[in-house]
Amino acid sequence: MPSTLLKNFIHGRYVDNTDNTRFDVINPSTGQVIYAVESACENVLEQAVRSAQEGFKIWSKTPAIERARILHRAANILRERNDELAKIEVIDTGKPWQEAVEVDVQTGADAIEYFGNLCPSMMGEQQSVGNDFFYTRHEPLGVCLGIGAWNYPLQIACWKAAAALAAGNSMIFKPSEETPRGASLLAEVFIQAGVPEGVFNVIQGDGKVGNYLVEHPAIAKVSLTGEVGTGKKVMAAAAGTLKKVTMELGGKSPLIVFEDADIDEAVTAAMLANFYTQGEVCTNGTRVFVHQDCYDTFMERLLIRTRDNVIVGDPLNPATNLGALISENHMQTVLGYIESGKNDGATLAFGGERIKPDGCENGYFVGPTIFTHCTDDMRIIREEIFGPVMSVMTFETEEEVIQRANDTIYGLAAGIFCTDIRRAHRVIAQLEAGICWINAYGNSPVEMPVGGYKQSGIGRENGIEGLKSYTQTKSIYVGMDKLEGPF
Ligand code: NDP
Repeated sequence: MPSTLLKNFIHGRYVDNTDNTRFDVINPSTGQVIYAVESACENVLEQAVRSAQEGFKIWSKTPAIERARILHRAANILRERNDELAKIEVIDTGKPWQEAVEVDVQTGADAIEYFGNLCPSMMGEQQSVGNDFFYTRHEPLGVCLGIGAWNYPLQIACWKAAAALAAGNSMIFKPSEETPRGASLLAEVFIQAGVPEGVFNVIQGDGKVGNYLVEHPAIAKVSLTGEVGTGKKVMAAAAGTLKKVTMELGGKSPLIVFEDADIDEAVTAAMLANFYTQGEVCTNGTRVFVHQDCYDTFMERLLIRTRDNVIVGDPLNPATNLGALISENHMQTVLGYIESGKNDGATLAFGGERIKPDGCENGYFVGPTIFTHCTDDMRIIREEIFGPVMSVMTFETEEEVIQRANDTIYGLAAGIFCTDIRRAHRVIAQLEAGICWINAYGNSPVEMPVGGYKQSGIGRENGIEGLKSYTQTKSIYVGMDKLEGPF
């Protein structure tokens, strides 16, 4: 890959655009431009489509067991290159090295391995109907489009590509303009592993570039990870050609701590659910509801641990556990939310400020921030912030907290901490969220289907459902007796 100019990756190689449009990518921890990227012009986009159609012809006819072998090779290459790829993710996203080295590449490889394992077992059904019978085939959709967010660039590309390719589709992937490298590196890995040319192409650019393909008649399905507003636009554009869509969107998820919870664990969860990846995680439990009987203990321990254990600094330093926000713009948005929380009358119990760590003075860091005395109508409670901003509220009864937890347009995730197992299952069953945790928070193994209720999404990624979402069922009826008719 060119170190200073990244190009679109089509049919197994980097190609030139023909209109010379470029954009810069900034390291969020330093504010410095790190490389430039060529945007995909119409010529490049049409090339990507033709190539993906060719790739689909070959790949969809490749026996599933062979697809599995190739996907396993790709997963192995990712694991062998873990540290190198993790470092690139740290530089592009600003997230801490200690996270990326453990999570980003590994969970991407897990998905490729998991769907590689599943695909040879995809079987149709057969049923007799009198002397006749029918059978079903689970066929791939064709050329699929993946559009990624900037918080987990390589992992998101892996999750979408793994299921799409395992099912025999080809995919064109558009990463976020802010983090374009992860998907391109994955494309290189696929070629190295033996995935045929054209099966995974990467095009670069902004929402307009994505929109061109969302509207393109040759694309069968769009899978987007992004904001709710983008999801609405993409779904409306996809409706023109009635494409299938999977939408993995934002959230404002509740984390509920009952009075019988293990408070230390609940504090761990609240910190993970708000400060991991500096708060830039879609499933974050940003509305923390704590039962009034354990509120004082919870707050005391939360404040001590936030003060003593959160280390904001150079993301490449292995000790850092809270990195830089993705961009200056996004940092201003997060700081704006903090101002609105103060203006709306919430108590700023911790942090709330931009931080300029040594050596990273121009980076986009906001320290861990905790609000208390919040009310359900405040903007910080209603809107997704996507930064290290936790809002804590108290509650009295189970019925009340369920009603308040569900009082949102979102429905991505929810977590509860309590030791009464009947209550745990009773409450979880009433929460309107697609991804729920009991006495845990944030884990998302590839075996588990993930996706949102309400405006947080449509469809599911990962798990067996994730694979099925990249297939369509063909039913074939076979007549065994002489065909009779009234004509
Ligand atoms: P955005 O919605 O801004 O962007 C997502 C992707 O869509 C980017 O590649 C973007 O391109 C592209 N895009 C924007 N407009 C269009 C359009 N009209 N047509 C086609 N593509 C378009 O999200 P962010 O990148 O800011 O990511 C943060 C959001 O993602 C948060 O809301 C978060 O909750 C959500 N998210 C959801 C996850 C889930 O699994 N549910 C997981 C991770 C994040 P560009 O950026 O280049 O403009």
